[in-house]
Amino acid sequence: MEHEPFQLAKARVLISNDDGIDAPGLKLLEKVMRGLVKEVWVVAPQTEQSAAGHSLTMRRPLFVRRVSRRRFTVDGTPTDCVLLAIHKVMKGRPPDLVLSGINRGANLGEDATYSGTVAAAMEGALLGFPSIALSQLYEDGQPVRWSTAEHWMDEVLRRLISARWSRGVLLNVNFPDVPSVAVTGIEVTRQGRRKIGGSMIEGVDPRGEPYFWIGGGRDEDRGRAGTDLEAVHRGAVSVTPLSLDLTHEPTVKTLKAVFP
Ligand code: MN
Repeated sequence: MEHEPFQLAKARVLISNDDGIDAPGLKLLEKVMRGLVKEVWVVAPQTEQSAAGHSLTMRRPLFVRRVSRRRFTVDGTPTDCVLLAIHKVMKGRPPDLVLSGINRGANLGEDATYSGTVAAAMEGALLGFPSIALSQLYEDGQPVRWSTAEHWMDEVLRRLISARWSRGVLLNVNFPDVPSVAVTGIEVTRQGRRKIGGSMIEGVDPRGEPYFWIGGGRDEDRGRAGTDLEAVHRGAVSVTPLSLDLTHEPTVKTLKAVFP
């Protein structure tokens, strides 16, 4: 089943993120959306939740705090934020669109499974809303080219919402780390390969305990055509549809042969 069509100018939009309520990418997304839609609602984590994945807070209560009109924080994860936004904060006023971001940094390949940014959009999709995760690539130690995301956002969003994609599918958008004039276009891609976690800093804490600190280094494949990684490193905006049905069909067939 596909999402119902809606007009951007009349839309009510929910925005969340994983970088937290004070993140520049969130503020930029709010600013852009205020110029495009009727109502912008923000429900974002109080503190940074990058790499929180799709985690849900279950062993303690959650507090929603109102920052200003239609702007709220939750002392929880991105998933908590979207769940509370839909069921409580926006009760009776469901969004036409759920956006997450704009994340400071890429969400490419397997990042999607660790990302709190993607998880907020996953939660939106699971709740039945058209949902899009947005991320701006940058190089460690370099300034983030927010102007690239800002410049391309309007066109990307208008085109995406004109497509009626399936419920339960979210869209993962990555803006390349090039000036906006150097962007080559918008490309539909597949999830690439980019494993994180192999590089670790090892040390000893002040009390003599050895520790490990997971680094940002990645073993990634930028060369495989048609992938999100290849597209952004060529200077394109990448759009990857992600399915929340994680079933791998060919393996279903393989296993059925073992359990006839
Ligand atoms: Mn983040």
